[in-house]
Amino acid sequence: MTIGWCFDNTYSKLPDIFKENINPLPVKKPELVVLNKDLAKKLDLNFSDLNNKEISELFAGNSLPPESNSIAQAYAGHQFGHFTMLGDGRAVLIGEHLSKKKDRYDIQFKGSGKTAFSRNGDGRAALGPMLREYIISEAMHNLGIPTTRSLAVVKTGEEVVRETSLQGAILTRVALSHIRVGTFQYIAARQKREELEILLNYVIERHYPSIKNSKNKSIDLLEIVMKKQIDLIINWMRVGFIHGVMNTDNMSISGETIDYGPCAFMDVYDPKTVFSSIDKMGRYAYCNQPVIAKWNLSRFAECLIPLIDKDQNKAIKLATEMINSFEKNYEEKWLNMMRDKLGLFGVEDKDKFLILDLLTWMHQKKVDYTNTFCHLMNFEIKGKENFEDNDFKSWKKRWYERLKINNNGPEKYTKLMRSVNPLVIPRNHKVEEVLEEANNGNLEPLNKFLEILDKPYSEQKDIINFQLPSSSNEKYKTFCGT
Ligand code: AMP
Ligand code: MG
Repeated sequence: MTIGWCFDNTYSKLPDIFKENINPLPVKKPELVVLNKDLAKKLDLNFSDLNNKEISELFAGNSLPPESNSIAQAYAGHQFGHFTMLGDGRAVLIGEHLSKKKDRYDIQFKGSGKTAFSRNGDGRAALGPMLREYIISEAMHNLGIPTTRSLAVVKTGEEVVRETSLQGAILTRVALSHIRVGTFQYIAARQKREELEILLNYVIERHYPSIKNSKNKSIDLLEIVMKKQIDLIINWMRVGFIHGVMNTDNMSISGETIDYGPCAFMDVYDPKTVFSSIDKMGRYAYCNQPVIAKWNLSRFAECLIPLIDKDQNKAIKLATEMINSFEKNYEEKWLNMMRDKLGLFGVEDKDKFLILDLLTWMHQKKVDYTNTFCHLMNFEIKGKENFEDNDFKSWKKRWYERLKINNNGPEKYTKLMRSVNPLVIPRNHKVEEVLEEANNGNLEPLNKFLEILDKPYSEQKDIINFQLPSSSNEKYKTFCGT
């Protein structure tokens, strides 16, 4: 049986300025760490005829599939608000694979060596951050959140030097595409209308063919991308996910979560939560995520101005109107998401107060976000929370009253709550624990963790240790993972 690769590379056929043609740099001693069989199946790929060495060689880029055509993509981006020329500095797209259903996926190696866009970087990645991306992207997928996914991680047998010397690794990332707001920024900065048009038409053909014949394709694209981003951020807020580095180059046009660097899940509810060690001002804090999404979309809109209308003033007016509809759309969807988390059907004026009062209580009493919703679904996870608190009890009375409206009993609302409130998330201290073991060559905890995170909405036996927040009072910190 063959593997089933079915490459149909389109991005590599775009004009030269969009990319650099470059192969992954072979590595010394590739060794498979983890292979995602579930994702392989979804892609209609089958690696069971390959031995371990062949699989390792493949996912290290030492032996490329024949129809692949490797490129590093050019892009720019606002990093913490500052515009920079970037591009794939440590990744190559080996091609676009079509599943049997003709769904198209980018197959990208991350950590695959230097490219024209590496600047001062070494083009490589370390094992810890690549496994971290694997764990969290798969957890996000299982939580029902659009995301790039991880097909494999291999160790390279080479060292990468960061603050200390670390084991090198390559992650195979699978995405609907790697086209970012930053891709548009890169092309727009060149100020050649025909190049911008090529990108616009490419994106519409690939991701949003429904607007192919619309009167104003660029304004319609802005609207779709905005809607996708709002839905995505609402999903992040739902599970307490903090991306950590929402630069415009890390915002995908397809609406997937991309680039798992300093991301982490919030434990104690605090809207200002930031984990990233470099985010000193809290630009990418939990509660700022919608604000930043809007800011990034405004940068996207700026790129499209020349295509929206020949009359620049008219184009700016149209784009501004569109961007200004962000808040109303976001708030409406956020309220509905929170209603789902509380099992509320229909729309009542007072819902917003009920929701905000719960969040305020959670913030004041420093309770765990995930486990509070577990408590409301009658799953008791014995942490430090005091659910006998009088303020909470009186809030619950109001909640019970509201539950009676448009509801026919606990079965109906519990079903709704169970579909949106996870019983388990990748807790930060657990992520660190399994990464440390994996770094020491023990993959058992990693595999067990992945198995638990596979079914976040299902009751699972003996997982209390994965549900409890860390007992340590030390503030959790994440790093960019470069
Ligand atoms: P990120 O913070 O992962 O979004 O990356 C920002 C930019 O830095 C991108 O252009 C990356 O390709 C580049 N980059 C990150 N790490 C490295 C590295 N080790 N070598 C070369 N370029 C890198
Ligand atoms: Mg990035």
